Amino acid sequence: MKVMKFGGSSLADSERIKQTVQIISDVEEPVSIILSAMKGVTNLLIDAAEKAEEGNEEYKQNITTIKETHLKCISELFGENIPDVLLSGIDKKLSELKDILHGVELVQECSLKTKDIVMSFGERLNCYQFTFYMNYLKKPASYIDARTFIKTDSNYGKGSVNFQKSYKLINEKIESIGNTIGIITGFISSDSDNRTTTLGRNGSDYTASLIGAALDADVVEIWTDVDGVLTADPRIVENAFVIPQLSIQEAMELSYFGAEVIHPYTLIPTIDKKIPVYIKNTLNPTAKGTLITDKSSEKDRIITGLASIDNVSLINIEGGGMVGMPGIASLIFNSLAEADVNIIMITQASSEHSISILCRTEEVALAKQKLKKNLDLAIQSRKIQNIEVVDDLVIIAVIGEKMIGQIGLTGDLFSTVGKANLNIFAIAQGSSERNISFVIHKDDKNLALNEIHKRFIG
Ligand code: ADP
Ligand code: ASP
Ligand code: MG
Repeated sequence: MKVMKFGGSSLADSERIKQTVQIISDVEEPVSIILSAMKGVTNLLIDAAEKAEEGNEEYKQNITTIKETHLKCISELFGENIPDVLLSGIDKKLSELKDILHGVELVQECSLKTKDIVMSFGERLNCYQFTFYMNYLKKPASYIDARTFIKTDSNYGKGSVNFQKSYKLINEKIESIGNTIGIITGFISSDSDNRTTTLGRNGSDYTASLIGAALDADVVEIWTDVDGVLTADPRIVENAFVIPQLSIQEAMELSYFGAEVIHPYTLIPTIDKKIPVYIKNTLNPTAKGTLITDKSSEKDRIITGLASIDNVSLINIEGGGMVGMPGIASLIFNSLAEADVNIIMITQASSEHSISILCRTEEVALAKQKLKKNLDLAIQSRKIQNIEVVDDLVIIAVIGEKMIGQIGLTGDLFSTVGKANLNIFAIAQGSSERNISFVIHKDDKNLALNEIHKRFIG
């Protein structure tokens, strides 16, 4: 069994859909297909939900754009032979979407729960039209709504998956469709009350690996619009090139630190079952791609790749009274957990004079408010003098398995950054030594990535 996932970039229009169908047709073994929404559709849905919530009627234009995108694609795929039930099925889904957004407009409120329902239409519309097209080409296929088998908790927007329950349901479902090819909606899931949840942006990759692990697949393939995982984001570093083979740990570090080519959780389900994951290019299917396995990487350079996280803020908590004050770190971390703020990176100077925390800018106001409240006593008694926030930052992560035990690498790295005249706000090194991360101003990001790439990767 092979599991193949095609992202929105592989499904941007009828031409790309035809290429995708061709790639699937060339596979000889049994296959399960996971699809994202058509390119740009999830963003349009989110934008529509936000506009409706503001009472801005322009959300209706987004629905029209989504409708036109699908109908244009359908008319190019089927020509004169568009099945009536396909059109009525698309219409039905779109009118349901319209009703939901009208409800949002009326109450001027869109919870994360409602947003998940709105976002689910992207994958549902795309898989629906794709299944019809496969059947039209006499390649028997079954439309599968993943909400029937990917089960999560009720954490809307980023559901945590119940593996055991999901794996059982996936097997039952795939068995029930016989020899037809399952065309499965990525990204969407449901909670124990069968309410729609999602797995987080880019979550279709994760859907694919969950299905691969459930079915004990021989391989999971993530098909996208680049030749594999590259040494850096190709939109920023022009000389970035494909990494033919990556260890799971390296791939996880890269994706966690912003290489959006795979969702950070993608490798969790496949790791236990030792299922290899390939990243391949729909636009260039004969390219070898990137293979991610549990084997160490075979590269001769020390640094494997670079990644970055945008829109982060630094919270600096400073005070002479923090020295030797037991429990201060736990008080800080508990406060952030209470505020549901995700900590991306932490540094503490060994003088214990200050603790710096990096979080997403959209969460920083809440974080600061909570910290001020919970640290009030320490602030009043001047043990903590200052809680300072710095915005407009990015985290740069330098990743590589061969970095372990490399004396002098850190010095070399920061002298490269220093020579480019860039100011560093904070530095952290993972104890695995596979990752050095540092924080700089957002305007310095491109220069830093290009200079480090030139010096260490080539
Ligand atoms: P899909 O629609 O197939 O899920 P995404 O847009 O989510 O595709 O991810 C692919 C994109 O990720 C590429 O087009 C590329 O611009 C970007 N990207 C960022 N970092 C990397 C990297 N290190 N390697 C490859 N692509 C990267
Ligand atoms: N369509 C969803 C998104 O844009 C999921 C995905 O593409 O993987 O985030
Ligand atoms: Mg993606």
